[in-house]
Amino acid sequence: MSSVVTAEAVVRSALGSDAGHLLIDGEWVPAAAGSTFDVIDPGTEEVVGRVAEAGTADVDSAVAAARRAFDEERWLRLSSAQRGVVLWRVADLLEAKSEEMARLESLDVGMPVSQAKLMVAEAVNQFRYYAGWADKIQGTTVEIGTAERRLQGATYREPVGVVAMIVPWNAPLIAMSMKLAPALAAGCTCVLKPSEEAPLSALALGRILLEAGVPAGVVNIVTGFGATGAALAEHPGVDKISFTGSTEVGRKVVAAATGNLKKVSLELGGKSPVIVLPDADLGAAAAGIAIGVFWNSGQICTSGTRLFAHADIYDELVEGIAEQGRAMKVGYGTDPDALLGPLISQRQLDRVAGYVEGGRAAGARVVSGGKRLDGRGFYYAPTVVADATPDMRIVREEIFGPVIAAMSFTDLDSAIASANDTEYGLAGSVWTRDIALAHRVARRLRGGRIGVNIHRAGGVQMPVGGFKQSGWGRENGPDALEEYLETKSVVMLLDR
Ligand code: NAD
Repeated sequence: MSSVVTAEAVVRSALGSDAGHLLIDGEWVPAAAGSTFDVIDPGTEEVVGRVAEAGTADVDSAVAAARRAFDEERWLRLSSAQRGVVLWRVADLLEAKSEEMARLESLDVGMPVSQAKLMVAEAVNQFRYYAGWADKIQGTTVEIGTAERRLQGATYREPVGVVAMIVPWNAPLIAMSMKLAPALAAGCTCVLKPSEEAPLSALALGRILLEAGVPAGVVNIVTGFGATGAALAEHPGVDKISFTGSTEVGRKVVAAATGNLKKVSLELGGKSPVIVLPDADLGAAAAGIAIGVFWNSGQICTSGTRLFAHADIYDELVEGIAEQGRAMKVGYGTDPDALLGPLISQRQLDRVAGYVEGGRAAGARVVSGGKRLDGRGFYYAPTVVADATPDMRIVREEIFGPVIAAMSFTDLDSAIASANDTEYGLAGSVWTRDIALAHRVARRLRGGRIGVNIHRAGGVQMPVGGFKQSGWGRENGPDALEEYLETKSVVMLLDR
């Protein structure tokens, strides 16, 4: 286990004296009311830092700074190629600080450092990818169709303005990079609010953005609780809100955004199905499904949490996934053998345990896991629950923990219907050696990202987002840029 001294050293090394401050207009400042809150290491339950709690006055200052930076064109007056160079520099600095950032993210979220390194690498990819886009955002000329050619039309792609970004705690560095990189490439200015559960990497990224040359006021960072996010969501000075989090809070964000009809994009919850056909490679499927649901201790929006296995292979597959789960070492972030870390909080631990107990009480069978681990920290064992039924809460509701609910089927059409019988539509996967059938099933699943013989894959190039109540809009790829751009038409009369 890491000692407090080591944890403090990690925070000091990444954040210097800026940890307890907000980033507003290029300056690190305390909250106006002087409020702060504790940051807890979920692996030890120890306090590892204190950060500022932004109130309404701080949100007003951050939005005003972003507005000034936008109106004064502090970012836009750089050529698009120069903006790309700055974003590339952000990627380089992040990469150079990869070890330090991974340690910080691990401390804050609980994930193993090895996994946090992969997340830092993915954040680096985000900034490199959109650095390349910065000077390729172009409008078109338009044939308006007059025979005399007296009119000429052109479209311009312009930044949407001041963007508020609200992110959750499960993979903060990636979540915020997925918003900041395309928004900055598009020329927007930003106010970022990380989760109260894991705010540290946002502050460290703020330092990197300034060091890379992002001008003052272009990215502002306010740490705080839901009230800070709510103040942003309803703020009349914000043009667009980009939210990642639960469907429940997403709904509140939409309601709050109506005041000035700000644009909204949402990356929300999921309850993703996994369909396994009898001809699948069962060994590979068990391993792939286990990592697809247990990775990051199940705290991933796209986790494959509902298993539909053909009756012919159901028992063998369920046992195979359980065996994979039993073999995964759950431990502290710096333990090199740990594959899974703790859950983020006592609240989340109670929530996960409650769902499993509810499933058990409703008649489902806990095959493996189903218990918290002894000692300090919010650790919960990877859990397979078999013989679930579609009406159970463990099947219908997002748990956000290392829990898979298994059901068997004999008729593929009804399995697909059950898979789609959910308010969510974020992801899914199908496992079979019959590629034509896999393709047909993938087309029929109602979700934003479907895997074939793999549950979750694809980097910054692949668009992600939700059908149904899993979200509005897309992140990654060129689609993400669209979320931060407006199209302006300019028509010129040429015969005067
Ligand atoms: P959450 O919705 O509780 O909180 C997310 C963020 O919203 C936090 O920063 C929080 O402070 C803020 N917030 C809370 N109340 C608010 C309000 N009224 N107005 C504005 N902001 C408010 O989510 P969480 O528990 O932090 O994260 C887990 C959830 O996030 C899960 O549902 C998961 O599926 C989802 N998620 C989705 C994606 C995706 O890409 N679709 C990715 C990661 C996580």
